[in-house]
Amino acid sequence: MLKQVTQPDFDAIVIGAGITGMYQTYLLDKMGLKVRGYEAGTDVGGTWYWNRYPGCRLDTESYAYGYFALNGIIPEWQWSERFAGQPELLRYAQYAADRMDVRRHYEFEVRVTSAHYDEAQNCWRLTLQDGRTASCRFLLSAVGPLSATRMPSIPGIESFEGQSFHSSRWPGDDHSARHTDFTGKRVGVIGTGATGVQIIPVVAKTAQQLYVFQRTPNWCAPLGNHPLDPGLIDRLRGDPHDFLAFIKTTDTAFPYQRHPKKAIESTPEERLALFESLYDMPGYGIWLSGYRDLLTNKVSNQYLADFIADKIRSRVKDPVLAEKLIPKNHAFGTRRVPLETRYYEVYNESNVELVDIGESPIERITPRGVMVGGRDIELDVLIFATGFDGVTGALDRIDIRGKDGKRLKDVWADGPQTYLGLQIAGFPNFFTLVGAHNGASFCNIGVCGALQVEWVGRMIDHMRRNSLEYAEANPDYQASWTEQVYQVYAKTLLADSDAWWARVTQNPDGTVTRRALIYVGSAPDYRAQCEKAAENGYEGFVLQALG
Ligand code: FAD
Ligand code: NAP
Repeated sequence: MLKQVTQPDFDAIVIGAGITGMYQTYLLDKMGLKVRGYEAGTDVGGTWYWNRYPGCRLDTESYAYGYFALNGIIPEWQWSERFAGQPELLRYAQYAADRMDVRRHYEFEVRVTSAHYDEAQNCWRLTLQDGRTASCRFLLSAVGPLSATRMPSIPGIESFEGQSFHSSRWPGDDHSARHTDFTGKRVGVIGTGATGVQIIPVVAKTAQQLYVFQRTPNWCAPLGNHPLDPGLIDRLRGDPHDFLAFIKTTDTAFPYQRHPKKAIESTPEERLALFESLYDMPGYGIWLSGYRDLLTNKVSNQYLADFIADKIRSRVKDPVLAEKLIPKNHAFGTRRVPLETRYYEVYNESNVELVDIGESPIERITPRGVMVGGRDIELDVLIFATGFDGVTGALDRIDIRGKDGKRLKDVWADGPQTYLGLQIAGFPNFFTLVGAHNGASFCNIGVCGALQVEWVGRMIDHMRRNSLEYAEANPDYQASWTEQVYQVYAKTLLADSDAWWARVTQNPDGTVTRRALIYVGSAPDYRAQCEKAAENGYEGFVLQALG
């Protein structure tokens, strides 16, 4: 029987003040819990607070991303562009914080360094970077799937004497020319993921010379951003539940429905016509409205990959360079597709050079630049668009220990194990939002994250109404969910590709093991499983009262 002698400092602690953490804090406060939030940044916004690089913007339609489900709270917001830029997103997050009045619950510039479960007291004890401690009954991590920056381990990296930074730590707090004008400068960008692809065309506009260090090319497609017709927002707002109901039916909560056919069921002419229309369409139609077997059938995928490869050839004048920009080692859409704005045209400019570090890796970084293929490339600025330690990275950086002092990092050494991606056996009362193996990370996170926050809120409310103080994933349900996550992943072409959502391990025998960090089943299917568990009295969770 559980006992408790002293009350913890807070009913709940939320780590992170991105869109997920803020909403969870708001809901828990509304339910009457005493909540505290900790955020490493100086203000709210999470992703949109940290990523201030020029060109940073959504690849999700703005009106489908921002707290749509909260339309009642933020009815007056008018998005200016179909894919909002970072400054507008940050303003939106700040405005949402005001409307939800959540800042008063947060301490900013406070990083949580450890969280240990105290079995005797059924509470979590946290240590903060400044040495203070705090305790709580429920611990909710909203630390972000893409918040732990990843720097490469290139010899000499510390020796560079010019200006250098990770894309997510761009200098300055605005997009003013002071921080985005590279006139007269020789700039290097390492990395050609979604971030690099957004940065490169902007930097190319002013840099004297831009060197793009590409290890692996990605399949990119046009973003097609445009100012928003205010009438559209009004129309959606007029019937917000219809729009929300529609995006809730789609696999990834984007406003796109998959084509009903398999690629093989169309003629070559029909396929070409479909691909052309999707390529011209703004946003993720090319990824999410294509043939329904795009991510499961190699032949279907190759049809689209061949089409995109031809588009790259048509946009890049130098045929040798075009071939270097065409991916050879992964199928289309098995990594998040970077949506670009005149990205390929940049390589036709005389001030831009692609340096193929897949062919000839960087030897070292020197005080004056980068040494590659026996050549010294002198640089004034070096930008690391090298991505993030995806999904589990931010949690790995906190010393999290559950029952018997077990460390989460050790428990997850061979890959995450969770129940519904929300709880972990041995870590009671700990909820992982937009975390490993849950249905929000391979999704339009604005919507999927918010729906998850609401589900967790309902579970905690259920516990409080029934005087239950303890919730832990049942190990059998956890094993079955984990198996389902891996099986669903294995059936897709994603299983053969390296991306931030997979943990890739090189084995001594030369083979590679890829562990999915996310659930790639459909969002409605994920939510149905969560709902079923809730309807069955939170089946799969061990719920207990205190003695
Ligand atoms: P985050 O916004 O990452 O917030 C997590 C917060 O937790 C951070 O502020 C961090 O400082 C804080 N934190 C972490 N660890 C600690 C700690 N130990 N102590 C204290 N605080 C801590 N998703 C989409 O669906 N559509 C998009 O178009 C899209 N574009 C993106 C563009 C970029 C450049 C990036 C990086 C990501 C993008 N994403 C997109 C994913 C994006 O991360 C999510 O959409 C969403 O913002 C995640 O919100 P969050 O609140 O869960 O996490
Ligand atoms: P990323 O997709 O992981 O790309 C990182 C890039 O850095 C890759 O090109 C990678 O090459 C390269 N790299 C990493 N380590 C390297 C090393 N040691 N040497 C050389 N190159 C190295 O990261 P990201 O571009 O920051 O994007 C991450 C995710 O954030 C996206 O997938 C997306 O979900 C989100 N995002 C969205 C948008 C948007 O459009 N809304 C914009 C930015 C980011 P390899 O491929 O060879 O590893």
